[in-house]
Amino acid sequence: MYTVQEKRDLLLEEDLCDHCLGRQFAKLGHGLENYERGAIIREKDEVNENSFARDNIPEEAEPGSSCHVCQEVFEKMDHWVELVEDSFERYELDTFLIGIRPPSDVLKAEEELWEEYGLEWVEPIKTELSRLIGKRLEEELGIEVDFKRPDINAIIEMEESKDRVEMQVNSLLIYGQYNKYSREIPQTEWHCRNCRGDGCDECDWTGKQYTTSVQEEIQDPFMRETKGIEAKFHGGGREDVNARCLGKREFVLEIIEPLNRNLDLKELQEEVNESTDKIEVFELQFTHKDKAADIKQKHADKEYKAVIETEDEITEEDLDNISKAVGEIKQDTPERVEHRRADKTRKREIYEVEWEKTGDKEFELTVKAEAGTYIKELIHGDEGRTQPNVSELIGTSAECVQLDVTWIEK
Ligand SMILES: [Zn+2]
Ligand SMILES: [Zn+2]
Repeated sequence: MYTVQEKRDLLLEEDLCDHCLGRQFAKLGHGLENYERGAIIREKDEVNENSFARDNIPEEAEPGSSCHVCQEVFEKMDHWVELVEDSFERYELDTFLIGIRPPSDVLKAEEELWEEYGLEWVEPIKTELSRLIGKRLEEELGIEVDFKRPDINAIIEMEESKDRVEMQVNSLLIYGQYNKYSREIPQTEWHCRNCRGDGCDECDWTGKQYTTSVQEEIQDPFMRETKGIEAKFHGGGREDVNARCLGKREFVLEIIEPLNRNLDLKELQEEVNESTDKIEVFELQFTHKDKAADIKQKHADKEYKAVIETEDEITEEDLDNISKAVGEIKQDTPERVEHRRADKTRKREIYEVEWEKTGDKEFELTVKAEAGTYIKELIHGDEGRTQPNVSELIGTSAECVQLDVTWIEK
């Protein structure tokens, strides 16, 4: 392994520019750019680890030099910055990240240098370029580098035959909660069962099974304001089409490739809520991808209110038996979802039940239950596949004719 002095003496023979010379010592000294490191050790005859200090920078040190390793990538700094600025022009953004694909000849020359003189203290040319270009963009556009969640990732293709910027415009994510007051709409758009979305007489050539959905009731103003190409809806679970949700279900609305990001969410929330009586949204705020994943995975306990009709007349004494449903129940995968999920027996906890007799063959049931409990099956019993179940407990066949989700754990 070479000392700083030895490595510097050898590298001077290579006829490198200040950028490329300094980059071989990039890990030494703080708050310096590589061209400044290069200028320091070119000027001083005696060098060591402590030479890389601000006070030692010669006055004539300046960026933009070139040599046989970097060719002209540092000379063309204005060009790269302009290329990115042009690509960013259509977009509203606060944060970004720059990636670099240097010309292959440059990468090859850099590797040869590393093979010859070792990897100690070095920084790849990509890193230096992305930092320098990132800084310029921060200054000129008033935006910020963000390594974790940039609004846009821009990759500069520096190969002469390419000479372009590849952009990945990241989604804009908006968190909210919704109530659904309609018993006729699903959470997201369903294709027409007959034509599978192509359009037919049965769906009035809309391609849709239902005229609208929770997502469609929400997304329009967001698409208009962001000019995104598509919206995706991530719900924290979903209720059946014919069930209302009064418990404020969490969701994340994802706008793909938005041009605009600076939205007035308070105003948009009002606009959505004034435009429809089928749903209502609450708590809109900007969020990120991890949150969308959290919401989808979360197992939230829930409370339901069901209107139930029975085959035979029921008495208060019959209904008192429903209290035996509290505690652990066993549910085989229901017939209606068996094609979607593996058939297995699950244990679920019923925390609370309350009931009110509303007719000879009708009552209302409130159930607070563990995440994942199939409530309609708890009521009709699913031919004995849920144990215990309300039908067996009250001694006559019971059917849920109306269901609301009234509370969702958050
Ligand atoms: Zn160079
Ligand atoms: Zn159709």
